[in-house]
Amino acid sequence: MTGIPAPPAVGDTALKPDTFGGQTVIVTGGGTGLGKAVASEFARLGANLVIASRKPEHLDAGRAALEALDADVLAVECDIREPESIATAFDAAAERFGLPTVLVNNAAANFPVPAEDMSPNAWRTVVDITLNGTFFCARDFGRRHLDAGSPASIINIGATYAWTGGPGFAHSAAAKAGVKNLTESLAVEWGPYGIQVNCLVPGLMPHEDMTTDIVSNLERTHDKDACQPAMRVGERQELGWAATFLASPYGRFISGHTLVVDGANWQRRSLTNPAVIPVREQMGRDPFTL
Ligand code: NAP
Repeated sequence: MTGIPAPPAVGDTALKPDTFGGQTVIVTGGGTGLGKAVASEFARLGANLVIASRKPEHLDAGRAALEALDADVLAVECDIREPESIATAFDAAAERFGLPTVLVNNAAANFPVPAEDMSPNAWRTVVDITLNGTFFCARDFGRRHLDAGSPASIINIGATYAWTGGPGFAHSAAAKAGVKNLTESLAVEWGPYGIQVNCLVPGLMPHEDMTTDIVSNLERTHDKDACQPAMRVGERQELGWAATFLASPYGRFISGHTLVVDGANWQRRSLTNPAVIPVREQMGRDPFTL
């Protein structure tokens, strides 16, 4: 079994090199991991990039990667939990480049924890960043385009446990379910004004910026390729290509859609299910006591 063939190399592209020439794309969390990979594909297609997140070291790394692709880059500090912080960042983007045409709501927070161990603060933080932050960014971006009467594209980054639930990730799974649902509401509300709203869901796409928590969770699976129907994990550029297609002129009639790029992993089922192992046991935690 060879699985689904490997994709073309990073740097290859199906769209014309100037597809986003003269346009500006905002990617929240665009300094790390998948956000950086998505931003890179827009950069290769001629876009100016605005990357927005909290930590200067992430912004510096993202700016360096995107400038190496000859993109014009604004890296701006922003906490997407705070509407004022978003407004300031988006003002700076508009001042530098004019109104951006694409918003990729990529920033999110996540860490594995059994639900019974999850503090109210942990729940609030993940929901606040992943769901509230996504809405606040979409709201600010959408209002600017409604006011200007200009078309635009919003891509929210989701996760497959929006449909299935995510044992060990109750906070993030619930928040991502909200993000998927929000995508559908906004697509209908803002379609008449020319704003497309889609959701893009990555499968397992390991990258060097993954948090220690997520990495140690993954390390419990010794052969990650063999655990995927595609017989391989995803490559970051595969997410970037999907994002650039959705925001391109060739994806204009796609709105309110959630596109999963995971080689069918989330539909995987066994004829008979393996024995259930409680999440806290999978995570090597001691039995729960109050
Ligand atoms: P990541 O490495 O954890 O990056 C998260 C990014 O979000 C960071 O750049 C971080 O930057 C930013 N961020 C976090 N909180 C923020 C806040 N309050 N305000 C502004 N920015 C904030 O994540 P990733 O693995 O690249 O994943 C990217 C997206 O794909 C996420 O939406 C994630 O849920 C989704 N996803 C990933 C996978 C995967 O296999 N990796 C699978 C399914 C879904 P700062 O720390 O500088 O703020």
